[in-house]
Amino acid sequence: MSLLLGCIADDFTGATDLASMLTRAGMRTVQVIDVPKPADGVPQADAIVVALKSRTIPAAEAIAQSLAACRWLKAAGARQFFFKYCSTFDSTDKGNIGPVADALLAELSEDFSIVCPAYPENGRSIYMGHLFVGQQLLSDSPMRNHPLTPMTDSNLVRVMGRQTPARVGLVALPTIRAGAAAIDEAFKKMRGGGFRYAVCDAVDESNLMAIGHAAADLKLITGGSGVALGLPDNFRKAGLLAETEADRPLPPAGGGAVVLAGSCSEATRRQVEVMRRDHPAFRIDPAKLAKNFDAAVAEAIAWGRQQAGPFLIYSSDEPAHVADVQAKLGRERAGSLVEAAFAAIAPALVAGGIRRIVVAGGETSGAVVKALGVKQLAIGPVIEPGVPATVSLGEPGLALALKSGNFGGDAFFLTALARLR
Ligand code: ADP
Repeated sequence: MSLLLGCIADDFTGATDLASMLTRAGMRTVQVIDVPKPADGVPQADAIVVALKSRTIPAAEAIAQSLAACRWLKAAGARQFFFKYCSTFDSTDKGNIGPVADALLAELSEDFSIVCPAYPENGRSIYMGHLFVGQQLLSDSPMRNHPLTPMTDSNLVRVMGRQTPARVGLVALPTIRAGAAAIDEAFKKMRGGGFRYAVCDAVDESNLMAIGHAAADLKLITGGSGVALGLPDNFRKAGLLAETEADRPLPPAGGGAVVLAGSCSEATRRQVEVMRRDHPAFRIDPAKLAKNFDAAVAEAIAWGRQQAGPFLIYSSDEPAHVADVQAKLGRERAGSLVEAAFAAIAPALVAGGIRRIVVAGGETSGAVVKALGVKQLAIGPVIEPGVPATVSLGEPGLALALKSGNFGGDAFFLTALARLR
């Protein structure tokens, strides 16, 4: 088996989303956290997604990290490359999408790529170059007020045009609807006319499939997870990817199970309530952590080790209490104390035999995965939209479900525990 698709994602949950999409479409996919060291080895996979944290860092650093990822993927034998960014095109006029895409094209000795953040399943569609979030133009959506990447222009040809010295054009919906051959024709014309990027309209999955097919021969594709939908088919047509069933089960990890909830988002708080009804639960109190961190952490670990079945350790709290704690300790300190607590608790529980872990919270997931020394995740079937089951590669294999705070229905923890084997 050789590596077909090498992906570079500008954040962790975006990487998981893309990996999950490729898995669903039948590619064996591994997500690696940061650019692997030579000693980490190259996992056996059809697609590898390198998860960076480069969305809002200075452009020069984002370029350096993305190039390091690209070179590693090249050395691993990738045939095609994918630069994954957010479906709301999160960026500023300084970057990082344009500068990173330019650098990747140069690295791959190529002069043309597409720009397609569309993800109709999640309400992100592009029409006449304008990005919509649900029924709103991007510039009318809440993204307008994002603290780091406020999106005040919906015209992606213009937005991308401000991030690159190169020419940016549009392949509009009528051409996209005419199918892969027409799109390919449009790409050739643009390329010949000196355009480096083609923003591609897409309002439904058939558009994304057609764009994916037309992009079969592009060395680099840039976009959201949606446009990856059509890529596995290209490899199948070329005889490089077997006609295997999607969503292969992962190898079982065995062992005990825990839910670690460090998110205070509404969905997570409801999930905590549902699980608490009939499972043992232990609350982490930031005030106690501030008073005597080691004692509070030791108490949680000792309690966890006594549990026979699945249990919950949570810091989730309602907004008023969180505000109180933040007023006393400071927002940063409260957050980092809780993250450090989960980072200390998780490895101790694994040492005691826990092998299946559900984590709620983006930052919390990052802290836990890092503390556990997890560097590579094999991606399995989706548990609920946006959250696949995963198994860490290396010893011991851990079954992990990493959920961003607001994802999942009320019974998510129970569903996830049942699905992690
Ligand atoms: P989400 O995905 O919901 O944003 P994150 O884990 O990314 O969740 O962020 C939650 C942040 O809140 C983390 O930094 C976490 O440590 C912090 N936190 C968790 N519980 C509390 C609490 N009870 N009081 C204050 N901060 C908390």
